[in-house]
Amino acid sequence: MNNENKEPIFEFDLTLIADFFRALDRQGPGGDEQTIRALGFLPATGPGLRVADIGCGTGRQTEVLARHLDGTITAVDLLPGMIEELRARMKRTGLSEKVTALVGSMDELPFGDEELDLIWAEGSIYNIGFERGLTEWRRFLKPGGVIAVTECSWLAPSRLPETAYIRENFPDIGTPAAKVRILEKAGYVPLAHFVLPQHCWMQNYYAAVAARIPDFLEEQGHSPAAVRMATLMREEIEHYCAHGTDYGYVFYIGQKPEK
Ligand code: SAM
Repeated sequence: MNNENKEPIFEFDLTLIADFFRALDRQGPGGDEQTIRALGFLPATGPGLRVADIGCGTGRQTEVLARHLDGTITAVDLLPGMIEELRARMKRTGLSEKVTALVGSMDELPFGDEELDLIWAEGSIYNIGFERGLTEWRRFLKPGGVIAVTECSWLAPSRLPETAYIRENFPDIGTPAAKVRILEKAGYVPLAHFVLPQHCWMQNYYAAVAARIPDFLEEQGHSPAAVRMATLMREEIEHYCAHGTDYGYVFYIGQKPEK
C-alpha cells in the first residue's frame, strides 16, 4: 500500500470529520481494560479528585474514569459534535453529575495553576505534540498530581521505514524509551508505561470505522470529500494491518513531583 501524496485526515473540513467520528463509540485505539490498568498506577485516589480529560471525543474513556474515580471530571474537546455526544452518553449512563463537558482547545485550557489531581488524554496529545502538551499542561497539576496519555510509538526494534502515513499522522513518533525521556524532561517522574494490545486498534476501533464508512458515504451523498476521507480511512486500516506490529499506542503515566 502506498500513502504517498495523500492528505492527512486533519486537513478535511472539521464538520466532515465530526460527522464521521461522532457516530463512533471511541475515536481512536483504546480499551476499557487499558484505561482501568492505567488508573491502577495512580499513587492515591482519594475522594474529590479533580480530573481533566483532554481531547475526550465522545467520552468512552471519560465514562470509565467517571465509574472508577471518586471526583469530578472536566472533559474538553475541540469539536462541538463530540461534546454533544459525550453529554448524551453521560445522561444515558447516569454520570452527568460527575462530568462537565466543554468545547475548547488543548492549547488554551480553562484550568488554573495546580487545580487538577489528574490529567487524562487518550489518543489526543499528538494534536498539540507530546512534549508541548506534557510541558504546557504540567502547571495545571497539583504537586503529586498525575498525567496519563497515550501516544503512538515505535514498538519493533527494527523500526518501520517511515511511510507517508506515519510522517503525516505521527511526525513525533519515537521509541518508548525516547518518550519516557521526554516525560522526565518535561518535569514528571515516570510511573509506568505499557503497550496497548492490537485488539485495541482492530476490534475496538477499526472494526467500527470500517462499519461506519457505507452509512457515512450515504449521508454525505458520496461527495468527493467524503469519498476521499473514506479512502484514507481504509488506507489507514490497511497500513495498520501491514505494519501494526511495528507501531502502536503506548500509555505513559507520570507524576509531578511533590514540592
Ligand atoms: N479520547 C478519545 C478516544 O480515545 O476515543 C478521542 C481520541 S481522537 C483520536 C482525538 C480527539 O482530540 C478528537 O475528539 C478531536 O476532536 C480532539 N482534538 C483535536 N484537536 C484538539 C484540540 N486542539 N483541542 C481539544 N481537542 C482536540
